[in-house]
Amino acid sequence: MTSDGAELHIQLARDVLFMAPAGFVTDLDGTLSQIVDEPAAARPIADVPELLRVLAHRLAVVAVVTGRSAADARRILGPVGRQLLIVGNHGLEWLAPGAEEPQAPVHAEGLRAAVRAAMAAVSPADGVVIDDKGLSATVHYRAAPDPIAARRMLLAAFRILPPGIELREGRRSVELRPAGIGDKGSAVARIAEEHALRGLLVAGDDVTDIDMFHAADALRAQGVSTLTLAVAGGVEVSRAVSDAADVTVPSPEALVRILQGVTASLPG
Ligand SMILES: [Mg+2]
Repeated sequence: MTSDGAELHIQLARDVLFMAPAGFVTDLDGTLSQIVDEPAAARPIADVPELLRVLAHRLAVVAVVTGRSAADARRILGPVGRQLLIVGNHGLEWLAPGAEEPQAPVHAEGLRAAVRAAMAAVSPADGVVIDDKGLSATVHYRAAPDPIAARRMLLAAFRILPPGIELREGRRSVELRPAGIGDKGSAVARIAEEHALRGLLVAGDDVTDIDMFHAADALRAQGVSTLTLAVAGGVEVSRAVSDAADVTVPSPEALVRILQGVTASLPG
């Protein structure tokens, strides 16, 4: 679908969120915030905290599913973060509303060490930033003077990885993470199951979010009412992300306007 027709998108999202129980599962960076050069400086766009607060009040579950560590995502979201389920590290860490510590896989310590060992292969370079997220680590090369060369350097450094560790690429980033113990797609499936969802809205902007869209499609085949929204942020949004979603909206701001349109009519 095209990016016009906000009214149509509001109607589609409303149909899904009027189901009960219904949930909203969303990525953070590039979906609720603009992508920034310095990942630690990212902030949700202005209306997001209030919007999430209202949705958390009215829906069975609002979950932020992110590649960041759960604690980092909660920090960036501000006070409303404590009212939401936050699934960090692309599905590996579960931080429940109000909880102090995330739940992580039982063999987390060994995984941490393996990720850290693999990261040692990265040589410091201009504009290349390592975000150590504990169970996974992301190297951002958005600010590198030559991003193509930076990417090539990173892929070469990670050509051989420790057993059980896999590489995934994102928007100007490369992530090392434990393989096969959960991703954003398995997170969506678990959220839907735990809350017995009959309606599910999913939003994301990056290639790792395609797993969430596919999980929603699988739920739809089981009778759950679903809508998946790809958020475009400019030239870097992958065609694959857009193709995997039901609807593409032009920006995080456009997503927020759609959600505001829905909350205006959701039953309290
Ligand atoms: Mg994102």
